[in-house]
Amino acid sequence: MSTLQFDPNQLGYNADVVVIGAGISGLVATWRLLREGVDAVLLEARDRVGGRANSGTFNGESYDLGARWISPHAKQFRQLAHELGIQLTPQYSQGESAIRLNGRSVRFRNRAPWFAPNVQLDYRRIIAKLNHLSRQLQLQTVKSALAIKNYDQFSFGAWLQQQSSAPATQSLFRLLTHVHFMAEPSEISFVYVLDQIQAYQRAEVIFSLRPAHEQDRIPGGMQRITERLAQQLRPQLNVDTPVLAMRQDEESVSAYSRGASFRARYAIIATPPAVAAQIYYEPALPSNRDALNQRVIMGRAIQAVLCYDYPFWRENQKSGFLMSDDGPASIIHDVSPTTSSEGALACVIIGDNASHWSAQPRSERLRALVTQLTGWFGNEALAYRGMIERDWNNERWSRGTVGYMPPGSAGFVHAIGTPVGRIHWASSETATQWSGSIEGAIEAGERTAAEVIGQLSSAGLLRRDT
Ligand SMILES: Cc1cc2nc3c(=O)[nH]c(=O)nc-3n(C[C@H](O)[C@H](O)[C@H](O)COP(=O)(O)OP(=O)(O)OC[C@H]3O[C@@H](n4cnc5c(N)ncnc54)[C@H](O)[C@@H]3O)c2cc1C
Repeated sequence: MSTLQFDPNQLGYNADVVVIGAGISGLVATWRLLREGVDAVLLEARDRVGGRANSGTFNGESYDLGARWISPHAKQFRQLAHELGIQLTPQYSQGESAIRLNGRSVRFRNRAPWFAPNVQLDYRRIIAKLNHLSRQLQLQTVKSALAIKNYDQFSFGAWLQQQSSAPATQSLFRLLTHVHFMAEPSEISFVYVLDQIQAYQRAEVIFSLRPAHEQDRIPGGMQRITERLAQQLRPQLNVDTPVLAMRQDEESVSAYSRGASFRARYAIIATPPAVAAQIYYEPALPSNRDALNQRVIMGRAIQAVLCYDYPFWRENQKSGFLMSDDGPASIIHDVSPTTSSEGALACVIIGDNASHWSAQPRSERLRALVTQLTGWFGNEALAYRGMIERDWNNERWSRGTVGYMPPGSAGFVHAIGTPVGRIHWASSETATQWSGSIEGAIEAGERTAAEVIGQLSSAGLLRRDT
């Protein structure tokens, strides 16, 4: 017997598919469904679309506070931007960049940075070993689960300690882990890192020494693409509609929000697994799926943008790019608008630093960031006009940045995209390629839409088939 109690006066809606979450994954899934003639409805908890692709404004200019970079590999994103008539602009990277490790700056321009010989050798050796183990793991997945279990006992941090105890090597890999996973090496399963290397094709892509290199941005912010997508979907889109509970039986699935219920043949949950875990399910999710949702931990980051009258660093032949182990920010880069003469630097505070600085007053965070900026960019960094910021771990409907798995979770990973009855799972975290990125979010949206279209089609319920 159902234990869900709802207001008998609540409004009831019917559709073929209900999609939960209007981040890029849910938007893409809904758009694909509508284009195939499927009656789909999209429910979003926040008062805006875009989820983790979100911009803030300062002095009339938009700046990304979540996703920003589009990698050269992001083919589906580039295709989508083209379809929606949105142009990309290259990340500014002319001039001198730096990586600061243990109090020393390694400067570089057009080529990858060159570290002290022991660090240089360590980097190459560790990357080669990661690529080798990742390929081996792919074979082992087919042959036996034993090796996976063995590796899964380790955190990435513990494995790194075995490879090199040199402080500069440790600091370098901590920084590179921050940039990709937005977490500490000690928090992440080593098997998960190897799995991600498969999803990103090579360890050099994940642990890139020049992460800004060849990246593009959307002038005016990533939100432009999600808002353009949302325009295609209205009136199917319902914002301010948090799904609090889901109920499914043999014939249908229902999503319950405040004062309204949405009944459909299939549901796509397009939220990170950790956020999906907050929904009440009836019947309860199978224990393995529930355990999986709880195990995909969200990374920690505060993204701040400091705004200036003009990009003064460019006049000093600096690119605006800095990676630094002395914090607060692990990575800093130029995000100046393309449509005005103003300058802006994005500063991303990550992992343990994010937890520490999240607990400090805004004025202290600002002061510490400005001190960090003056260290590399000089005293002109003191003349900021303002700062906008977002602490992603305080965002109820995101609960952090991107999902990763802790040690001991490898046994659950394979089921991340497996439907539970009428519920299908999207979100970037469920992608097989480029998971955790915007590209992964699109892949997952396309995949789940195709899954549901396949189900409707085989039941003879697709309008284009009739
Ligand atoms: C600081 C930061 C920097 C990043 N940088 C990059 C980058 O440079 N390049 C890149 O490719 N990726 C980057 N990413 C990752 C990228 O933002 C995500 O992979 C992508 O946006 C995820 O999209 P999604 O649709 O899967 O999930 P989300 O964007 O999280 O969308 C989920 C949606 O579901 C909604 N929701 C949650 N719960 C409910 C509920 N119960 N009912 C209804 N709605 C609900 C949420 O409000 C949200 O809108 C970054 C992320 C962060 C946070």
